[in-house]
Amino acid sequence: MNNKQRVLIVDDEKFNRQMLSELLLPYYDVFLAKDGEQAIALASAEPPPDLILLDVVMPGMDGYEVLRRLRSDERTCNIAVMFVTGMSEEDDETKGLDLGAVDYVFKPFRSAVVRARVRNHMSYIWQRKQLELDAFIDGLTGIPNRRQFDQAVETEWRRANRHGTPLSLAMVDVDFFKPYNDTYGHGAGDEALRQIAKAMSQALNRSSELVARYGGEEFVLLLPEVEPDEAVKIAERVRLAVAALGLLHEESNAAPFVTISVGGVSLIPSLKTPVAEMLTRADKQLYLAKQAGRNRVSWETVI
Ligand code: GH3
Ligand code: MG
Ligand code: MG
Repeated sequence: MNNKQRVLIVDDEKFNRQMLSELLLPYYDVFLAKDGEQAIALASAEPPPDLILLDVVMPGMDGYEVLRRLRSDERTCNIAVMFVTGMSEEDDETKGLDLGAVDYVFKPFRSAVVRARVRNHMSYIWQRKQLELDAFIDGLTGIPNRRQFDQAVETEWRRANRHGTPLSLAMVDVDFFKPYNDTYGHGAGDEALRQIAKAMSQALNRSSELVARYGGEEFVLLLPEVEPDEAVKIAERVRLAVAALGLLHEESNAAPFVTISVGGVSLIPSLKTPVAEMLTRADKQLYLAKQAGRNRVSWETVI
């Protein structure tokens, strides 16, 4: 996949657009706009640019107005903007920076300076993006964390509620994991959690299906838009994938290797079954799976 950062150059003069794009093309994906309207359309595209180089004086909408509009739209309000302009009065510069531009470069510009400034901003923007992405990943296992699940389940709940389609979710808990730690050590326990997380992720097929670490040795499955019997099959496949790791567990009463119990629920979301209610029901099923001897799937279908 192409993971070059994206820069949008906005200038009404072709010569300026060319100069800047030649300068930046070796390092970034470059997009060009010749007026404010085009700039806003391109900035709202998916994925958005990381940085916009914005001219101030243009026919129609000027650069300040473009920036104001970008700031007022939640899709574009966080995009970094750098003014590149012939307006070199102190007041102009202050105005641009006050509007939230990250930088201000004067024309005629020196290529090496523009390139260096863009590089510095891009490096900072990249780091910030990594931090944001990291915030949704579990540090131990590398799979989505609870925060990501919380967002995904809200989105999927609303979608399923709107379309009247089924939503399934399941709680997963590692069986006899305390004795595993006590027997093989906490480090081995951590490694087991990593392998369990990986096996469960690999057992899922569709990109809409999610497994997240919910906390401790508990995980959660989110299965949107599948029929209940299919959801149970997926849960069963996930359970078997963990068992198939064959991680020796001599202190387990469920099997001679590490196993999981899964409790799930399938329903068409309604106001009577908000996300919290679904989690409670899944938890009840998990309890039943544990009671019935662990290393199994227990499921409630309300359709
Ligand atoms: P059950 O079959 O009823 O689920 O028994 P259990 O022993 O798995 O249940 P319990 O909730 O008593 O123990 C959970 C254990 O999981 C205790 C805790 O030390 C361990 N654990 C939780 N998070 C981590 C972790 O990040 N790393 C390791 N190594 N252990 C963890
Ligand atoms: Mg537990
Ligand atoms: Mg457990």
